[in-house]
Amino acid sequence: MGRPGFEESSVKNRQATNGFARTDSYHIMDIEIDRGLDGCNSSLCSVRENEIQLHKYHEIPEFLQGNPYVVQGYRAFLPFSLCLKSLFVWTNETLNIWTHLGGFFLFMFLMLFDNFIVLPKYAATYSDYIIISLGLLCFQFCMLCSTGFHMFACHSERASKRWLAVDLAGISIGVIGCYLPAVHYAFYCLSIWRDLYLIIICLLSVATLVAQLHPRYSTSTFVHHRVLIYSSLVAYGIIPTAHWVYLNGGWSSELVRMFVPKVTVMYMLGLLALGFYSSKFPERFFPGTFDYIGSSHQLWHIVVVVAFTWWHAAGKEILLYQTTHECVV
Ligand SMILES: [Zn+2]
Repeated sequence: MGRPGFEESSVKNRQATNGFARTDSYHIMDIEIDRGLDGCNSSLCSVRENEIQLHKYHEIPEFLQGNPYVVQGYRAFLPFSLCLKSLFVWTNETLNIWTHLGGFFLFMFLMLFDNFIVLPKYAATYSDYIIISLGLLCFQFCMLCSTGFHMFACHSERASKRWLAVDLAGISIGVIGCYLPAVHYAFYCLSIWRDLYLIIICLLSVATLVAQLHPRYSTSTFVHHRVLIYSSLVAYGIIPTAHWVYLNGGWSSELVRMFVPKVTVMYMLGLLALGFYSSKFPERFFPGTFDYIGSSHQLWHIVVVVAFTWWHAAGKEILLYQTTHECVV
């Protein structure tokens, strides 16, 4: 695929430079902690020690390409220090980074708030504390993986691949974080079913994580497979939900009437998020207009944070219901 203006040989030169074991550098998750860009003579890496240069889509290497409708604002081959600095520089990744870094702090705050303020007010058991915290820790892990990917993917092709795998693993962990409290509280009074569904969900999640070990899983050609796998993992939730509605006596149950609309909203948020992720709307129809603000990936990030927050609030509500009502099934 032709990439006018892209000095391929020079970039290979830079990648080759990355491959040497340098005495003054070390690696964290394939990020070379080095002093800069010695040995690189591509226009893409003619970056001074403390300056981030931004590039257009047709200038960046193939491993950073993926959305041609975001036309400019790309970083490429930044050293570790500039990847960190890009937290405070306006690029097309700035909002991708901050939406999920903000999400991380939000879920950390909620974990402290619930453990020290909310749960002590109710007859919460140790398992309630553990499950609420585990769910929020999964969300925090998911947010940090995503933040890391958007900060460090521009460092090199190796770093990009490694961090994409981390980002995708974070999504699986985030889905587990949704299931854990939901199944625990929905089947609060039905411990056999609760344990069975928790085991199945853990197995499905582990299977998703194992699928990611496939060498081509992270490539752009597998994007539809990835969407299908995550959709299946999320869609599986319909089975315990339908079973739970049946066991509680259907719509006549107050608990069912309270919880089913929340599940419905959650699925609608999930569909909306996946819709942005796979359609590249709105920039698909206005290329270059949403490069920095309002692109589909930023909207996907925001909807994910909203969905996690909504689901956490719903889980807490059903917990409070269960701790204040007798088991009826
Ligand atoms: Zn992302």
